[in-house]
Amino acid sequence: MKPKSLEDARLFASMVATKQGWVLNPDADFREIIVQGLCDNFNRYGYFFCPCRDSDGSREVDKDSICPCVWTKADLPEYGHCYCGLYLSRGFAAAGLPPASIPDRRYGS
Ligand code: SF4
Repeated sequence: MKPKSLEDARLFASMVATKQGWVLNPDADFREIIVQGLCDNFNRYGYFFCPCRDSDGSREVDKDSICPCVWTKADLPEYGHCYCGLYLSRGFAAAGLPPASIPDRRYGS
């Protein structure tokens, strides 16, 4: 499989945000760390596994946490951002608040 570049991962994150109607975290340094993690995970596992979680190395087991993970459907309405803080809801972004630590629904914590 062709490796992804950091630019590929940036484009991926941007396209996800546009498609879903979300906003990318405006903190460029923070965003770059998460995007780098997505890039690394793609090149390691072959899919954009969430950079804030531990992979099982199997697409079948990991599929709930392939970006954009299934938990965003609950996390964005409730907390205003995804677990990693890469994607923000429009309302949360407009409020100008930084994402905070939120529970990881994958592990029910
Ligand atoms: S928490 Fe979900 S949406 Fe956010 S970066 Fe991780 S996989 Fe993507």
